[in-house]
Amino acid sequence: MSKNSTYIMPTYGDRNLEFKEGKGCYLTAVDNNKYLDFGSGIAVNSLGHCHPRLVKALQHQASKLWHISNLYHNSLQEEYAKLLCLNSFAEKVFFTNSGVESIEAGIKVIKSYHHYHNNTDQKNIITFEGAFHGRTFAALSAQQNEKYSKGFEPLLSGFIKIPFNDIDAVKKNVNKNTAAIMIEPIQGEGGIRPANLKFLQDIKKICEKNNLLLFLDEVQSGFGRSGKLFSHEWANIEPDIVATAKGIGSGFPMGACLATNKASIGMTKGVHGSTFAGNPLAMSVGIEVIKLILEQNFLENVIKQSNYLWNGLKNIEAKYEGVTEIRGAGLLLGIQTKMNNAQMSNKLIKNRLLCVPAADNIIRFAPPLIVTKKEIDKALQIIDLTFKENL
Ligand SMILES: *Cc1c(COP(=O)(O)O)cnc(C)c1O
Repeated sequence: MSKNSTYIMPTYGDRNLEFKEGKGCYLTAVDNNKYLDFGSGIAVNSLGHCHPRLVKALQHQASKLWHISNLYHNSLQEEYAKLLCLNSFAEKVFFTNSGVESIEAGIKVIKSYHHYHNNTDQKNIITFEGAFHGRTFAALSAQQNEKYSKGFEPLLSGFIKIPFNDIDAVKKNVNKNTAAIMIEPIQGEGGIRPANLKFLQDIKKICEKNNLLLFLDEVQSGFGRSGKLFSHEWANIEPDIVATAKGIGSGFPMGACLATNKASIGMTKGVHGSTFAGNPLAMSVGIEVIKLILEQNFLENVIKQSNYLWNGLKNIEAKYEGVTEIRGAGLLLGIQTKMNNAQMSNKLIKNRLLCVPAADNIIRFAPPLIVTKKEIDKALQIIDLTFKENL
């Protein structure tokens, strides 16, 4: 039933499903079938679909003011930036429109920091195997992953890719030319691989000792997905820079690069900019999303539900020899089976459970953070049934 488009560049492959509306954790397809959404549009719909408070905030702002550019003062930006800073390690924010723009901004923070201090040798950024940072040339260069960059050479120089979760490799590769270490605390596209907390703590120490900036890509792992506002909080470390997007707007396209005052010292007038970023529509939604996430018991409930989902998946793992691994953290979990992940994902979707494949043959589950025990039970039932049919 593949519908090839005449007018859209076919970069996304087959897209056979179409949805007409969504509410909470459910989507309704054009044929009126209901799907339980454990993909959240790739870990984006953090508060589910059409959360009434977000609809209200957006509608209210839509009738007042949409866009003004960054030529003018915008008190919604001030309000939102303050909320972000008071609830995280950050002291300064640069607003963006997407994940990869937050990555680009973070790389500029790194470069401008060392430029400001005349650290002329510190040019290289250490990155990790399995990383995914987005699709711009800087992100492609940071990843050095053929799957994404083939045909786009020459890439930018100055990125050193080393094995993930290997502190000896970090020690071996840090030298006078190192500017920063850039890492996803939980690799998303790379196969739902959490960094060891000790590894993150050791990296932080190495950064402090060598005047390197620690740049965390929390585009997928942030905004409550791990059960904390940012997943690095589990390691009790303070990064210098954090890239965010995906869940930040629960579906409104937006992002932010967060940093300390120290790290962002080079981000002065004219150094960076964006026409759309921080626009009133995005700000009105962002403010409401973070307020909801920070409400009492919200994150506690994410932890509770994630434990429940984890235990349910572990039971399924024990039941089927064809399940080879369960991994992840919070409500970002992956299952690996003996069947091809894309094929198995399609079987799950046929049974009305949406999920998203990731690398390393992983089927990714990233339900909205408002998911209930009842919805998790339903998902587990579909997974069990699908595995019974296919494994
Ligand atoms: C999705 C993602 C990005 C890129 O975000 P876009 O909004 O698609 O540009 C970057 N880093 C991580 C960890 C991601 O999951």
